[in-house]
Amino acid sequence: MLTLRDVTAQRASERQLRLLRRAVESSKDGIIIVDLRAPDQPIRYVNAGFERITGYRSDDVVGRNCRFLQAEDRLQPEIETVGRAIAERQDCEVVLRNYRKDGSLFWNRLMLSPVPDESGKVTHYIGVQTDITAQKVMEAEHQYLATHDPLTRLLRFAGSEARIEALLAQARERKRRMVVISVDLDGFHSVNDTMGFAVGDAALRLVADRLRAASGPECEVMRYAGEEFVIAIGDVDPAADLTQLATRYCECIAEPMPISQLATLYLTASVGVSAFPDSGQTVLDLTRQADTATKRAKRNGRNGVYVFSNELSDALSDRLALGGRLREALARDEFLLYYQPQVDAQNGNVVGLEALVRWSSPEFGLLLPNRFIPVAEDNGMILHLGAWVLRTACRQLRAWIDSGLSGFQVSVNVSAAQMQRPNFVADVGRILSETAIDPGMLQLELTESVLMDNAERSAIQMRQLNKLGVRIALDDFGVGYSSLSYLRRFPIHKLKIDQSFIANITRDGKGAALVRAMISIGHHLGMRVVAEGVETAAQSSYLLRNHCDELQGFHFSEALPASKIPELLRHRYQTRDEKVHLEPRRTLLLLDDDENILRSLIRLFRRENYQVLSASNATRAFELLATHSVQVVMSDQRMPGISGTEFLSQVKALYPETMRIVLSGYTDLASVTDAINRGAIYKFLTKPWDDDALCDQVQEAFRQFEQNADAKP
Ligand code: C2E
Ligand code: MG
Ligand code: MG
Repeated sequence: MLTLRDVTAQRASERQLRLLRRAVESSKDGIIIVDLRAPDQPIRYVNAGFERITGYRSDDVVGRNCRFLQAEDRLQPEIETVGRAIAERQDCEVVLRNYRKDGSLFWNRLMLSPVPDESGKVTHYIGVQTDITAQKVMEAEHQYLATHDPLTRLLRFAGSEARIEALLAQARERKRRMVVISVDLDGFHSVNDTMGFAVGDAALRLVADRLRAASGPECEVMRYAGEEFVIAIGDVDPAADLTQLATRYCECIAEPMPISQLATLYLTASVGVSAFPDSGQTVLDLTRQADTATKRAKRNGRNGVYVFSNELSDALSDRLALGGRLREALARDEFLLYYQPQVDAQNGNVVGLEALVRWSSPEFGLLLPNRFIPVAEDNGMILHLGAWVLRTACRQLRAWIDSGLSGFQVSVNVSAAQMQRPNFVADVGRILSETAIDPGMLQLELTESVLMDNAERSAIQMRQLNKLGVRIALDDFGVGYSSLSYLRRFPIHKLKIDQSFIANITRDGKGAALVRAMISIGHHLGMRVVAEGVETAAQSSYLLRNHCDELQGFHFSEALPASKIPELLRHRYQTRDEKVHLEPRRTLLLLDDDENILRSLIRLFRRENYQVLSASNATRAFELLATHSVQVVMSDQRMPGISGTEFLSQVKALYPETMRIVLSGYTDLASVTDAINRGAIYKFLTKPWDDDALCDQVQEAFRQFEQNADAKP
């Protein structure tokens, strides 16, 4: 009985043991048993879980101390904790960086417990290890994402102030500069809109890579928002050229971007720069300044660099001072519309009135739009202000119609943000019907940047406006960043040539050639062409002669309050300079800095019954050319400031049909040959001259001119 009982108990405990063994063997966690009795505490047992986690086989590790699991990475405070626990025969739980047989890292959460023998003496330790690598990676990713942008893997700007602060502190200490660069991709909406978000994302990733590659070690490249990036550069040489420093960011974006095997993107960026201690002392100042400079770079036609300067500091203080006041100003009715006439070049009638907004502020006085429109565009108030302008202009137009005025259009300027609103067209339609205005009497002026900002959406909106009957003018034509194919794609009725081209039109041959080309482009596409900023009779006359359709500028009138308009509409302007003689009288222009020579030439040619105009400097000569119909121009070669051939080259650009003659006492063969080869001069004659021979030559020039004119269709 007794024996039998003993055997039963033994069997039972053997079963128990087998179960224990199976349990340990099949545990997913790694289990290690270490022997404390032997020197260096060798491993006596590891289970299959250990083999799977570490890649070591039991044979590899039994008999060795555990420390090989940390490889070279022994400076972990947790290792000491383990040592202490074992010395005190205590439990412990730690997280260790361990390394697999193949050298890769895994995070090991280790629970150690002492194993006593029958007498209660601790002879072994059992360790249970859990591989928590996946969890650690996720934690790290979370931490990373808290500070980084997942798309571009760049630091997020928000929350990175401390890093920029550190660069700034360092610059302060080392007496170096810290530069903040703000990079804003131009017209990026169109990429998302036309090619989809996947392409947009790929492009942003490429941009981030390029910005990183263009940045040195003392740089933080950050994503600000959407398509805006900020780069903080520490340790910059006080003598460094900031424009040059920033240009590389423009250039790296402008490189073609292969997005897929089929598509290559061409992007550009507007880049603004600010620097400590040049303009800003704090991170906030510097980022605001860089942002303001970027906006200026955009306004300057994009794809360029603008360094924050004192001039911009006015713009920035406007943004801060005026920005907050715009909303109240609208509520308090502080805005006014002035109207500037657009004149038909042929008959001088006023055919259009451009509504131009003014802000009559009790605090700041009368402000022009160039100061507050950019501010309103930045802070979104432009939507409210723009709606107010449109409504006010239409109501005013209704009042004029009711008082019996007709035969003109009213133009209203529209900002990009307005065009981006999906219900813009509906709003325009509603205002027109509220005021019962024939849509054909309203014209909207859009700049090229409005079209560029979101080409697809703009095109749709413009077609809808067109359906409504509203006319569209392309404002400030020629200064923006645009492709001519836009003129074909968008329903545009009018081109308004930017005033910068008109300013020098009677003096600068190349500028004038551009204006003639723009007029011709407009006409070939069936548009009317308007010149803005016409300030002199000579400009007006020149534009008329070159077939510009409408003229606008101070020469006719500045923008006036609405009350002055009825009187103005009754007025007919003179568009032709009275001094211009259009009758086909033979007119000769003489240019020579030597007054004596000039006098004797005048005497000689008066006898021939030509109208003789004379000038002793090029500026005067250009004025005469603008205000007279001149067929033959004769110029001295050697004059202060400009040579005869240079002068005549410019005359050729401005008035290609003229016959141009050099009369010189001095022969510089190279420049003369060059001028002849470029077709700038017709004849080269020498001083002293023979009166009869000279008269013959000039008469021949007139005959040649008339022949050319007859040959023209
Ligand atoms: P813009 O549409 O190109 O308007 C023409 C600007 O040139 C006007 O300035 C006008 O006064 C000025 N100007 C006209 N003739 C001459 C001239 O012979 N010589 C010179 N030097 N300047 C001339 P203003 O009124 O200061 O407007 C400036 C700009 O502000 C406008 O340029 C337009 O882009 C914007 N703007 C004006 N009103 C509004 C508006 O209601 N909404 C929006 N979005 N923008 C507006
Ligand atoms: Mg305009
Ligand atoms: Mg304009």
